[in-house]
Amino acid sequence: MSENISVLGLGLMGSALAASLIEAGHRVTVWNRSPAKADPLVAKGASRAATPAEAVEASPLVIVCLLDYPSVHEVLKDVPLEGRVVANLTTGRPAEARETAAWVAERGGDYLDGGIMAVPQMIATPGALILYSGSQPAFDRYEQAFTAMAAPRYVGTDAGMAPLLDLAMLTGMYGQIAGFLEAAALVTSAKYPLTDFTTDLLVPWLNAMAAQQPRWAEAIEAGDHRTEVSNLEVNRAGMENLVRAFQEQGVKPDLLLPMKTVIDRRVARGLAHEGLSGLVEEL
Ligand code: NAP
Repeated sequence: MSENISVLGLGLMGSALAASLIEAGHRVTVWNRSPAKADPLVAKGASRAATPAEAVEASPLVIVCLLDYPSVHEVLKDVPLEGRVVANLTTGRPAEARETAAWVAERGGDYLDGGIMAVPQMIATPGALILYSGSQPAFDRYEQAFTAMAAPRYVGTDAGMAPLLDLAMLTGMYGQIAGFLEAAALVTSAKYPLTDFTTDLLVPWLNAMAAQQPRWAEAIEAGDHRTEVSNLEVNRAGMENLVRAFQEQGVKPDLLLPMKTVIDRRVARGLAHEGLSGLVEEL
């Protein structure tokens, strides 16, 4: 079904989102603070709005993708929102999303917050995912239209949930990058070819480790940290060994040390028999 959709914010991401909606056959109205960024989209068939109010007036679904939440408030502050669904795909914190949901509701609008799990080049490709939270009726009404941008996934009525899960996914990613960077420093210190190490050894190993995480999640949900593999005492000794090996290779273990601190704290509490999943209770 073809929808009327307005897109506010035509930076790298907003432009990619608007282009995907035009491509899917929706009637798209665009607005950006610097008007020239609308030109390529108008050339593809979008209508240009001169002001945010004109863009919101044009469509019942308003997709917002700006730098941050203060810019969202600045752009929408004097704009009537009655009867509009505002889908705010700007990256922010859960508290900002909840506050913005209330602010939009006070003005008669329905609110969805979104977390884009993709870079602009991935929009409208199979790997792209957008998390949505907030108004379930709004999500149900526009789920089909959202599929043009990325696979949509609704994660609950609390508007803060999509940004929270977005941040949780980024957290997992940063942990993995931290591990990769430390491993890369160690491997290059020994002049071993890093690309070979990464492709042949590290990536298959990380995939195997990631496959264990659902079982850890079950243990955490059950509060049962018994283990049949390496307990925390084994991991404590393993970390000592790692840190010493780094020092002997002349490499700083800075990204590993916070993990060592948490393991040592848990062991000092007398919980050396537990598995690594128990560390979550220290956080
Ligand atoms: P960008 O290219 O820097 O675009 C920023 C947009 O915000 C522009 O349209 C800019 O307008 C507008 N803007 C900034 N301050 C404003 C203000 N005070 N009033 C009105 N408009 C204002 O950034 P982007 O990559 O499109 O990112 C947009 C959002 O998507 C961010 O929240 C980002 O975290 C999120 N996101 C991006 C990616 C990514 O890979 N790029 C991935 C996931 C999520 P002007 O053109 O006039 O400057």
